[in-house]
Amino acid sequence: MVFAPKSQPTAYQPSGVSVPGRQRRRYSVRLWSVRHSRLFELVYNTLAEVLLKLHPLWNLLGYHRIERPIVAIESAVKGFLFDCRMCGRCALSDTGMSCPMNCPKSLRNGPCGGVRANGHCEVEPEMPCVWVEAWNGSRQMKSGDNILKVQKPLDQSLRGSSAWLRATAERAAKDQAVKAPAP
Ligand code: SF4
Repeated sequence: MVFAPKSQPTAYQPSGVSVPGRQRRRYSVRLWSVRHSRLFELVYNTLAEVLLKLHPLWNLLGYHRIERPIVAIESAVKGFLFDCRMCGRCALSDTGMSCPMNCPKSLRNGPCGGVRANGHCEVEPEMPCVWVEAWNGSRQMKSGDNILKVQKPLDQSLRGSSAWLRATAERAAKDQAVKAPAP
């Protein structure tokens, strides 16, 4: 009969073996971003203006041609800061810089009825509810009351596309419509 050797306890304790600890760390950057929502509001508004100013250039190059590199940048930056899921229609500036797509139920208009007493999610108990965070983040923002706006249903065909470019093209079209002389 062969006995497998028993592992001996040692002084060495590998770091990061606590599951709750590991899960908490997963959310730490996104929570930090919400705590700095005012700063990110400022950064986003500036970026939106710059992208809009560059609209003639994007038009010249072709929005479809620049989509790929912009998606790569947007996904890397927002993925790191907000755990962005690239839904294609960004709500961050209306939701206290807390991405609603991180809600396991993908709720874009407020929390479900299952928020725990400690403000955590009922589906992922270690995760603070994205809507509790959204409310906290919105209270620091200048346009924080946008959180009261009703978000339209998400067009799933936009997934994986650039919300930055979409918002820019839509704003440019709106500006042009305002400037166009009435027939
Ligand atoms: S709302 Fe959409 S685009 Fe904005 S961070 Fe969340 S998944 Fe990304």
